[in-house]
Amino acid sequence: MGRVLQAYLDGCVQQPAAGRLDEHFAHCRDCGLEIEVYRQLKQSLRRSGPEVPPAALDRLRRFAAELGGKG
Ligand SMILES: [Zn+2]
Repeated sequence: MGRVLQAYLDGCVQQPAAGRLDEHFAHCRDCGLEIEVYRQLKQSLRRSGPEVPPAALDRLRRFAAELGGKG
């Protein structure tokens, strides 16, 4: 799922697949959370460029790993 999520957030998923994913994320709590993590990660990367606060990145990574670990 991780690769699909990343493609989706990068805008690489075309319709109608993107629409189906939108729907899924709206209803699936696990994927919704994962999407939130990736969004925050991307946002923080964009905002601060290469100087992302390591603590914030670490927290997001751990959260994402936790979500991924649940399968
Ligand atoms: Zn899901």
